[in-house]
Amino acid sequence: MLDQYGRSISYLRLSITPRCNLNCIYCRPGHCPAGYDPFAQTRILTVAEIDRLVRVLAELGINKVRLTGGEPLLRPDLEKIIRQIRRHPEITDLSLTTNGQDLAERAAALKEAGLMRVNISLDSLRADRFEKITGNGSLERALAGIDASLAVGLHPVKLNTVLMRGVNDDELEQLFDLTRAKPLALRLIELMPMNQTATASDQLVTGTEILQRYPQLERVPDSYPGQPAEDYHLPGYLGTIGLIRPISQRFCHVCNRVRITADGKVKGCLGQDDEYDLLPWLDQPDDTLLTQALAAAIRAKPPRHQFEAHQVPIRSMDRTGG
Ligand code: SAM
Repeated sequence: MLDQYGRSISYLRLSITPRCNLNCIYCRPGHCPAGYDPFAQTRILTVAEIDRLVRVLAELGINKVRLTGGEPLLRPDLEKIIRQIRRHPEITDLSLTTNGQDLAERAAALKEAGLMRVNISLDSLRADRFEKITGNGSLERALAGIDASLAVGLHPVKLNTVLMRGVNDDELEQLFDLTRAKPLALRLIELMPMNQTATASDQLVTGTEILQRYPQLERVPDSYPGQPAEDYHLPGYLGTIGLIRPISQRFCHVCNRVRITADGKVKGCLGQDDEYDLLPWLDQPDDTLLTQALAAAIRAKPPRHQFEAHQVPIRSMDRTGG
């Protein structure tokens, strides 16, 4: 369906848990004491509720779903969620964003359940730095997850790297090298001010700067209209290198996304605080009011984010779903 600005909304970003096993510096609001679960009291969408939301949204024109979080692999019923979503023939694209820590063990089961493709976060190729950026993540496990995804045929395998000046921007060449012999789609994402750490604008490395530093990058034509990543490749390399520039070259005018958080709120924009609670309508057996609430939220999608104002949204990235 169309929103109030005439954008066709066809893509659902669905967070299935706010919990995460990592603590990336740019993502979560702050470090929690060991063993403390900030979401212990939070009601998380059930498989049946997720299935119902996807069915209603498919009727409203959604045909693409990405599962995210938090860390979606923390849900033991993830395969079940995938199977349910694949039962809706309108959904022609089903993907997952993960930190890859537990992916090597689960890639085959996810593929078998019906997952089509995967995005894996990879902010450094140095084990000690990877651990520092992610809180306690293992580079080895992330790399094993990437290889397992390629082996079971999740295609394409995309790698999400958030570049930060003075943190990991000296690794660009090594990251590019990942695309030399493997059909990987590396994506360099501009740092968005999603928590207090990520507001430092001097940490932002823009896509323009990358293109200036590497004029040998050759533009690859877009695969579909309104594609957020600008794809490039290095001559002779198998994979691609994408620039995602939400800050320096916003793509809000072609944004086709609606977001649902794991605690049942619908959001039109990652960078705006507007959200509508769906739980009262999910508690009713009839779909009429749920459909109306979703349609109203889509219609009211904000025209653009306001990241340039360096206003940190109330919900950090892990609680909205990246
Ligand atoms: N846990 C999963 C993961 O690590 O991929 C899924 C959730 S995570 C919030 C989804 C994506 O959001 C990750 O690729 C992460 O790098 C990106 N992300 C989180 N905070 C960000 C920020 N401040 N700026 C840009 N990207 C961010």
